[in-house]
Amino acid sequence: MTDSGAARSKAGFDYLIVGAGFAGSVLAERLASAGKRVLIVDRRPHIGGNAYDRYDDAGVLIHPYGPHIFHTNSREVFEYLSRFTQWRPYQHRVLASVDGQELPIPINLDTVNRLYGLNLTSFQVEDFFESVAEKVEAVRTSEDVVVSKVGRDLYNKFFRGYTRKQWGLDPSELDASVTARVPTRTNRDDRYFADTYQAMPLHGYTRMFEEMLSHPHIKVMLNTDYREILELIPHGHLIYTGPVDAFFDFQYGKLPYRSLEFRHETHDRAQFQPVGTVNYPNDYAYTRISEFKHITGQRHERTSVVYEYPQAEGDPYYPVPRPENAELYKKYEALARARRDVTFVGRLATYRYYNMDQVVAQALATFRRLEQEPARV
Ligand code: FAD
Ligand code: UDP
Repeated sequence: MTDSGAARSKAGFDYLIVGAGFAGSVLAERLASAGKRVLIVDRRPHIGGNAYDRYDDAGVLIHPYGPHIFHTNSREVFEYLSRFTQWRPYQHRVLASVDGQELPIPINLDTVNRLYGLNLTSFQVEDFFESVAEKVEAVRTSEDVVVSKVGRDLYNKFFRGYTRKQWGLDPSELDASVTARVPTRTNRDDRYFADTYQAMPLHGYTRMFEEMLSHPHIKVMLNTDYREILELIPHGHLIYTGPVDAFFDFQYGKLPYRSLEFRHETHDRAQFQPVGTVNYPNDYAYTRISEFKHITGQRHERTSVVYEYPQAEGDPYYPVPRPENAELYKKYEALARARRDVTFVGRLATYRYYNMDQVVAQALATFRRLEQEPARV
């Protein structure tokens, strides 16, 4: 990395990073380790972005922005994060409340047998899926993905209602990639994820972020919108991890982001539900209830849970993958590419439905690119 920014940075920072979530924090750590001076600002009162965790009033470790389960197939990502945390192995399990039963999701052999009162083997359930699957010419939408694998009835019971609630759209209006996140299995594997690495940071995400950001070259400024300080603090390159449309003052209109309202509750008993998450595809206004102690492994005589209520308005949490939004994003992406002085990275800034590990991988790749492009350093 060259030191072309040295002159301008004498009085300030080499980098101003907007957002202290995974994207911003990984870049702050990498750049600081490469000798750069970094200011990272977040408008929230804490680091960690949506992965932030904290102890609630009862002393239970919770995820205020909904359950965050770490899983990845990337050894590079896992090893990188392992510099900042130890891990507790954890395999997430999810049940879906359907027709009065709590059944495994992703749909597997047991789901089918218990739902229909059958006793099929793995081989037989493959034939069963084939017999109910609908022929789809080209799999384009989130409806196509599911009906072409497991047919209309399972689609209606497990996916249609959940998706309509979660996104405010019918699965036929969403890209295939959304429901394709959830596989179908013919065996009895009831883990939600099948990745090589599945583990939770032993002391939580916030502790991991603290480790990442505790570097003499990194200064953290919270409760601050970057616009408040942009003109006041001398800095070199800007790295932006907030919503891309907001950066450009919504000049092409608002990019849709789906929001959620979280209802947190603590109960006076040790366990609330049998697994980390129970999905409610067809009943209630919420999509799922998650119980943190399953996920974190904490022992406590009380337990805390969170209900997720999808909303159109509110903090942006999910990009909405569908063709017209991709078109609109392309216009913002063109503006972003033209800005040599700013790098856009992360789930909101690149409008991608990314998991945490994908954001870490994207941030690591961005660092490598910055290293090779001295003009941007
Ligand atoms: P964020 O974490 O959103 O960080 C961006 C930060 O920028 C925010 O803190 C924001 O306050 C700040 N910011 C924005 N604008 C400004 C501004 N103008 N000035 C200053 N600061 C600003 N992923 C998984 O891998 N596993 C899971 O189980 C999982 N569960 C999830 C559950 C829910 C309910 C949600 C919403 C997401 C989940 N994710 C999960 C995805 C995960 O949260 C994201 O991949 C990851 O947190 C994205 O990191 P990021 O740094 O791109 O964005
Ligand atoms: N989905 C569904 N029923 C379920 C679980 C998931 O219809 O029981 C669909 C829904 O559209 C959801 C998507 O699959 O938004 C992806 O699910 P995932 O659990 O990965 O969502 P996230 O944890 O990112 O909210």
